[in-house]
Amino acid sequence: MIKVLLLGSTGSIGTNACNCIRRFSDTFQLVGLSTNTRSEILGNQVKEFAVSSVCICSSDAAEKARAHLPSSVNIFEGTKGLVDLVRETEFDILLNALVGSVGFAPTVAALERNKRVALANKESLVVGGDIITNLLAQGSGELIPVDSEHSAILQCLNGEDNAALESITITASGGPFRETPIEKFPSITPQEALNHPTWTMGNKITVDSATLMNKGFEVIEAHHLFRLSFDKIRVLIHPQSIVHSMITFHDGAVIAQCGIPDMELPIQYALSYPKRLPIQSTRLDLGAVGSLTFSELDFTRFPCLKLCIEAGKKGGTLPTVLNAANEIAVHYFLKGAIPFIRIAEIIERALNLHSPRTADSVALIEEIDAETRNSIIKGIIKK
Ligand code: MG
Repeated sequence: MIKVLLLGSTGSIGTNACNCIRRFSDTFQLVGLSTNTRSEILGNQVKEFAVSSVCICSSDAAEKARAHLPSSVNIFEGTKGLVDLVRETEFDILLNALVGSVGFAPTVAALERNKRVALANKESLVVGGDIITNLLAQGSGELIPVDSEHSAILQCLNGEDNAALESITITASGGPFRETPIEKFPSITPQEALNHPTWTMGNKITVDSATLMNKGFEVIEAHHLFRLSFDKIRVLIHPQSIVHSMITFHDGAVIAQCGIPDMELPIQYALSYPKRLPIQSTRLDLGAVGSLTFSELDFTRFPCLKLCIEAGKKGGTLPTVLNAANEIAVHYFLKGAIPFIRIAEIIERALNLHSPRTADSVALIEEIDAETRNSIIKGIIKK
């Protein structure tokens, strides 16, 4: 049995992962779960999968859960509890489906234990890519991407010599505002931003997909995962979300991985890698799809993407600031407190005010993350 510790078990990726583990209950065993506030769903998961350890980040939700969970269940609390859960649970794979930079420290903790991390929390690599790369080089831990684009690249690389890899092309659906007239951007509502044309995901990543910040994060993620310089990573708009990403080899061959837009495959593949397990889903029918289109990105429409790639290139603690500013700005946008176009403005200002340092410790990253959040919250409340 492969023991899986699943952080973020009540979100979109987490519940999908539970479907996979349910299908292959003779291969995978859930040993730990976590949620931020959804203690009721977590309670059902604990019962169904007979899980022995959990972490509940919100203290209110943890208090409620204590009354309902069996007394045999080991309950950790708070974001620090996530790290304790990773350090103290016996597991083979950490599936990290947390949202935001809170996922970074648990990724580090699992790699320090030389475990496999199936990474859906792309912010881990955005805020601390250099630290994670060092841990991977020094130990025997593994990082398997769950992000559909990076899973596609991993699948295209199977059996190939990494030295033959020339460049990669990450596809982007372009989100709901790919063709919205720019003069309408100031009045974009949270509901409109949450209406993604091809993928069903949690709220934060859906807004990141509307600003294309998500695509910028994915460029940084690819840079660290595949050890490629930024000039070898291209982004193309592909509204059908059928080609999940592609590779160009040094002989000019291009290999793409295609499929219907469904996270089930990348989640399951990260757990079973390098093996493939069956999925009974709708199959891609290119005859029915008809045509696949690709076009260049418009950076003036999507300033977040540009800010993200620039911060990634400069490196150090800048991507940490970028991510923290984005998390806070998206949070306030979803609450209706700031307009859509302020997201990029807030991030740009935070980046300009920051003097970058070498991102060499988890403590420094957590310090800069917290400082950035506090200063932006103060700024927003003052306005
Ligand atoms: Mg993706």
